[in-house]
Amino acid sequence: MGRQKQGTSEPTAQAAHSERRIVHVDMDAFYASVEQRDDPSLRGRPVVVGGRGARSVVAAASYEARRFGVRSAMPSTRAERLCPEAVFVAPDFARYRAVSQQVRAIFARYTPIIEPLSLDEAYLDVTTHRGGLETATAVAEAIRSAIRDELHLTASAGVATNKLLAKLASDANKPDGICVVRPQAVDRFLLPLPLRYLPGVGPKTQQRLSALGLQTVADVRAQSEAQLIEWLGRTGERLFQQAYGIDERPVQAERIRKSVSAEDTLSDDLSLEALAPHITAMAEKTWRTAQRGGYSGRTVILKLKTADFRILTRHSSLGTAPTSADELAECATALLDRVGMPASTRFRLVGVGMTNLQSTEQDPQAEQHRLFD
Ligand SMILES: [Mg+2]
Repeated sequence: MGRQKQGTSEPTAQAAHSERRIVHVDMDAFYASVEQRDDPSLRGRPVVVGGRGARSVVAAASYEARRFGVRSAMPSTRAERLCPEAVFVAPDFARYRAVSQQVRAIFARYTPIIEPLSLDEAYLDVTTHRGGLETATAVAEAIRSAIRDELHLTASAGVATNKLLAKLASDANKPDGICVVRPQAVDRFLLPLPLRYLPGVGPKTQQRLSALGLQTVADVRAQSEAQLIEWLGRTGERLFQQAYGIDERPVQAERIRKSVSAEDTLSDDLSLEALAPHITAMAEKTWRTAQRGGYSGRTVILKLKTADFRILTRHSSLGTAPTSADELAECATALLDRVGMPASTRFRLVGVGMTNLQSTEQDPQAEQHRLFD
């Protein structure tokens, strides 16, 4: 296969540098660490946060459990097989949210530009606001110390000129580590990285890349953009940008969430009758996101895309918001009756969402935190 460069317009990593200073902070094994902090009997033991049932998944695994191969998002039954001595703890998202707010309050000492990605990680733009510190690295270290001293938890941090590099860097020295990718060291950091580390490269894409002989960022850099696009379409375009460490996305301070959803492109086009298990899977995913945020939604939405790319949505507004993944799945599945397409129609995508979000918490303190986010 043609491995030589064809294009003439490869950007250099140098050209891509802006003067931005971005920190990505990622709490180490967050839910599991909070559990171990708050219950000394769990320290040093393999802790799995999540239910034990056949349909439960691992929400977080302590480093002791990870040594057995347990990972978050893995079915709990698999985790039990891998690590029979694991201690299962039911997740307590209200507590994790409260700790997450404390972490965020520490960030806010240094910069107002905070973009949380989840309860346990966030991007910070410290280009102009550094809380009186000289460098972005000093900010990252001050934040890590404050988290350690005040909250008795550890965090890892990545410091770089954009979000992509900062996020990759925070992973480099986990747990309890920091990695600074200076502009002149971008290539040294990036080129040896296996492609699966890049955002958007899941197991499926990784397989495709590997079949093309692409294992590391350096392998991608040996290709022209045109070649990558020919092979991989839009994924190729994104990969090309990522391989040069280019990422112009700004750090966006949190906006108020109006909806929550999950969707999935099916590996085969399916008939309407065959969609129910996929709807259930998307309902579970949506429910997990909502649960972490402490809300549910009174309007349930089913989104489908036909094999010929027509998008249709059906929704129903409920008297009370769903209180479980099963309830959400049930509502979304019921909407199949209202699709009204010919029986021969095939579908390529299934999505489940909720809007009209409301807090599931009675705790007025939680509401107040949200107001002052
Ligand atoms: Mg984390």
